[in-house]
Amino acid sequence: KLFAENLNISFGAKQVLNNINVNFAENQITALIGPSGCGKSTLLRSFNRMHDLSPDAKIDGRLQLEELDLYSKTVPVTEIRKRIGMVFQKANPFPKSIYENIAYGLKINNLPHDKAVIEKALREAFLWEEVKNDLKMPATRLSGGQQQRLCIARAVALRPEVILMDEPCSALDPVSTLKIEDLITHLKEKYTIVIVTHNMQQAQRIADKTVFMYLGEVKEEGPTAQLFRNPVNEMTANYINGHF
Ligand code: ATP
Ligand code: MG
Repeated sequence: KLFAENLNISFGAKQVLNNINVNFAENQITALIGPSGCGKSTLLRSFNRMHDLSPDAKIDGRLQLEELDLYSKTVPVTEIRKRIGMVFQKANPFPKSIYENIAYGLKINNLPHDKAVIEKALREAFLWEEVKNDLKMPATRLSGGQQQRLCIARAVALRPEVILMDEPCSALDPVSTLKIEDLITHLKEKYTIVIVTHNMQQAQRIADKTVFMYLGEVKEEGPTAQLFRNPVNEMTANYINGHF
């Protein structure tokens, strides 16, 4: 569904990703794991062209969503970001009401943004019941876990095909984390999901496939249970056993 082929990324003289080949299947959750600085966020961001903002970024290789070349000059970045949503470690709702947080992106993309659409997105993100009487409240008054679910609602409202998540739970308490894991597991019925996580239990609880990265390379990938039970690469074994 979504893939990178022979992907190299450098910032100035510093090569950060080295010949990455990965693919992410539809209706699956793929976890990206590896030590801090190995390039997980850089890889994730490359799929929705966040490095466009970095003038010293050099990207070569192929990045595709099915037949669509994500770096084609003829495809506007807004189109890419509509089809490939992203959720970050720190929930980043707009400084607007709960309602407007979702309506805003819909308006920009010329999509319907009536209340029924807003409700549907909030339901899909397991947030509707908690906020249905407070839609005009500033989103920043929500709890951290609720803000993160709002950011997920904002992403799904655009009917993307892929949702990329960069450590979506690492700022949250255990209960909020489990709630979001449950949500992500439901979302996979509709989307291709890639999640960066430092939480090995989380990867094992929710990911169908796990990809282990080290120093800018993919060292090992496989079905999650297999990779954790029987890692082939020594680095993978060391990392998942906490020897880093
Ligand atoms: P963490 O687990 O700590 O989030 P990560 O695996 O997500 O780490 P990245 O954020 O992808 O790692 O960073 C990989 C390397 O790329 C780091 O050495 C980082 O300093 C470098 N890097 C990332 N973005 C840039 C940039 N815009 N300019 C220069 N270097 C960068
Ligand atoms: Mg990161």
